[in-house]
Amino acid sequence: MSITVEKISASEQAIAMEDKYGAHNYHPLPVVLAKGEGVHVWDVEGKKYYDFLSAYSAVNQGHCHPKILSALVEQANTLTLTSRAFYNDVLGPFEKYITHYFDYDKVLPMNTGAEAVETAIKLCRKWAYEKKGIQEDAAKIIVANGNFHGRTTTIVSFSNDPDARKNFGPYTPGFVNVPYNDLNALAEALRQDNIAGFLVEPIQGEAGVFVPDDNYMAEAARLCKEAGVLLLADEVQTGIGRTGSLLAVCKGCTCSGKTCESKAGFKPDVLILGKAVSGGVFPVSAVLANDEVMNVIKPGQHGSTFGGNPLGCKVAIAALDVILEEDLTAKAGKLGELFRKEINKYVEESDLVTLVRGRGLLNAIVINDTEDSSTAWDICVALKENGLLAKPTHGNIIRFAPPLVMTEAELRECIDIIISTLKQFEK
Ligand SMILES: *Cc1c(COP(=O)(O)O)cnc(C)c1O
Repeated sequence: MSITVEKISASEQAIAMEDKYGAHNYHPLPVVLAKGEGVHVWDVEGKKYYDFLSAYSAVNQGHCHPKILSALVEQANTLTLTSRAFYNDVLGPFEKYITHYFDYDKVLPMNTGAEAVETAIKLCRKWAYEKKGIQEDAAKIIVANGNFHGRTTTIVSFSNDPDARKNFGPYTPGFVNVPYNDLNALAEALRQDNIAGFLVEPIQGEAGVFVPDDNYMAEAARLCKEAGVLLLADEVQTGIGRTGSLLAVCKGCTCSGKTCESKAGFKPDVLILGKAVSGGVFPVSAVLANDEVMNVIKPGQHGSTFGGNPLGCKVAIAALDVILEEDLTAKAGKLGELFRKEINKYVEESDLVTLVRGRGLLNAIVINDTEDSSTAWDICVALKENGLLAKPTHGNIIRFAPPLVMTEAELRECIDIIISTLKQFEK
């Protein structure tokens, strides 16, 4: 048998092929990308765009970063996968590197964000039975409404997005939903029996970049500690410099390279990372915790064939290095302030956009229209025509999250594109 692999020479050709042969589990903007470098991507026809999604914040270090690529190529030529049946000579150094970087005793490496969240859930439950003394099968984890933690059967069980959830039941029990950014509701839920943990995003990205009150995470951490339950922070989207601090939980702290407690005053018991851990080059995710939690996992109790593979480990070390070497965390903070300041000037006189919100370079605007209107989508299509790629999230919200390697001049150009495009839609 011989199957011809078609060469794509026009965008419509690629779109038609995906439509015919691929599952329709996404609804992409009609643009077919063929190349990326830094803050830019190019489509099949050679048109150049600014990327304002960064693969949902996986490409914080910019597309095809040379340092990360050379780590990939070098390791790919040496050893790619051993499985964890044997040791390899990159995993240990990676584990030492990432635990020092974020200041935890231990790491459990996986591949995707959803897997890391699953890992955190399993870790929390096992800790609850073996350390906290909760009766077997009774442990409950508190989660926030509007959460996005991935797509596995267990994770969608506690989503309240009907698309994510409907007709995927029966659902995994053991989760208690509370409103996001509501400390009273959290405190109340923590008074229930058998609570093992609180799983939360420090900023809800997919929900539309909902930034909670300044004291929310610190107070949540205090309440969890008081109740003797674990705080599980999902920083898959917000982590690794994106919000102007290394992690969103250490907000306001400009030190780089550690999950430092000095400003934030707390540290999550379990830290969940993915996406930008590898700069978007290779799927790498990680769960970090201290020994008293991580040591409940024994051989044979959890794992993944690809988790901790030498290729991913090498890539992740390089990707995390880039964040420090290029001071991307501080850059995200500074550029984010400029972005919100300039967009706010426009918002003040706009009937179309009601607000801009976010932290660092994770921002969103809210369009003044109904949830089910196509305005946000239409704006994104127009932005694409004008050379900038962004995507609506949850109806009438548009997220803006460029790679952190952007220069101030480039950001100013992008702000001009965004504002002039929005003006086309003012009534
Ligand atoms: C993207 C995301 C995930 C899931 O990551 P995948 O790699 O897509 O499985 C989990 N949590 C948050 C907050 C995310 O943004």
